[in-house]
Amino acid sequence: MDLQYSEAYQEFRREVQVFLAGWPLQAEEAKLSAEEQEALFRARAIEAGFVYRDIPKQYGGAGCEPDGLKDAIVREEFYRAGAPGNLPTQGAGMLAPTLLEFGSEAQKKRFIPPALTGEEAWCQGYSEPGSGSDLASLQCSARLDGDHWVVNGQKIWTSNAHEADFMFGLFRTEPDASKHAGISYLLVDMKSPGIDVRPLREMTGSSEFTEVFFDDVRVPAENLVGKRGEGWAVSRATLVHERNLIGNPNMMRETFDDLVELARNTIRNGRPAIEDAHVRQRLVEVEGYVRTAETSNMRQFSASVRGEPLKAMRPMMMAKLYGTDTVQMLQAVAYDLLGSEGMLAPTEEDIRGWSRSNTPTGWVEAYIFSLGPAIAGGASNIQLNIIGERGYGLPRDLRPPAK
Ligand SMILES: Cc1cc2nc3c(=O)[nH]c(=O)nc-3n(C[C@H](O)[C@H](O)[C@H](O)COP(=O)(O)OP(=O)(O)OC[C@H]3O[C@@H](n4cnc5c(N)ncnc54)[C@H](O)[C@@H]3O)c2cc1C
Repeated sequence: MDLQYSEAYQEFRREVQVFLAGWPLQAEEAKLSAEEQEALFRARAIEAGFVYRDIPKQYGGAGCEPDGLKDAIVREEFYRAGAPGNLPTQGAGMLAPTLLEFGSEAQKKRFIPPALTGEEAWCQGYSEPGSGSDLASLQCSARLDGDHWVVNGQKIWTSNAHEADFMFGLFRTEPDASKHAGISYLLVDMKSPGIDVRPLREMTGSSEFTEVFFDDVRVPAENLVGKRGEGWAVSRATLVHERNLIGNPNMMRETFDDLVELARNTIRNGRPAIEDAHVRQRLVEVEGYVRTAETSNMRQFSASVRGEPLKAMRPMMMAKLYGTDTVQMLQAVAYDLLGSEGMLAPTEEDIRGWSRSNTPTGWVEAYIFSLGPAIAGGASNIQLNIIGERGYGLPRDLRPPAK
């Protein structure tokens, strides 16, 4: 593995850095609202070929040749500058790449551009009360009635559904088919009559999750993605993109740097906590994992640059599992450093922000939040099975008898 970027890529990095000198916006533009500033800068970044690089221009992207290394450089530099890049949302990060692979031309043109800018927000309607890890057992149904699907049933743990304009979801359209074969992937307008969104209170104090109930909700027939009854394959594509969004090594490195700062600034027995050998040992252990994540990430990019097929990309399968474990470990060290301040409740600002922790209550929020990503997008046990079975070809785990 060659960890050096070639001169051409270093030149590209310099171009990105020059472009990023334009963030934060200055003068008159700095008076715009935060959302307007981000949208303006993101539009410039698309124009310059840095954001949504390989999404074709007709769907709102920059229309550049795919290049994993350039993507990595852009991610690193934008993250470092705190500049708005690719949105890590359900719409831009999960639906858009899925539609590029499976959507009709009309769906791509209609739904991808506003998902990329964030003008239309999306939520993911997969999980149901009895169907999480065993997702294919889902029961929420869609029946074709003329030129509409009629949806009935319930979804749960639907993040941000109360703020979403649309849902991409899985619905049982063939009740008599075997469980994986009877599912279709539909795009649902959340303003449709018959949808009831009920927020759920989480332990962080926020209500990001919801339950969504469908009572004879009519969805245009053309909002079917892929073929009828073949939604399982479409949903797998979305999940790969979701897992790729979780476990970002840049974010881990920044959070680790903040953790070291916290250890420097926390006074224990009259001395900075970082002078305690036990604390330093824990920091070194966590940094080992952070470095491994960075190296594994580089390995994944090298493989993708060489065009190696998915089977050779076990690091990608491991990224989510490994990333969520590492962040939990890191946050646990921070939580222990907080001492009695760890009993403080997160503030509204902590709950709303995706930004860096850096305050005692921010660290508390980040610690509690760190437990969720190991479950979202497929629980860690399931991820272990996938790595073992698909990555290494080990014998299949025991499965319950088919219903
Ligand atoms: C932060 C967060 C955000 C989420 N956002 C969304 C969203 O937007 N949309 C959505 O549809 N869902 C969402 N979910 C739901 C998530 O996809 C499910 O929680 C997840 O798939 C697990 O399902 P479950 O909660 O029903 O747990 P279960 O499937 O009941 O699992 C319980 C435990 O049993 C283990 N287990 C289950 N089956 C096996 C097996 N075969 N082998 C070994 N162990 C097993 C699991 O690993 C887990 O530890 C979100 C969850 C979280 C935490």
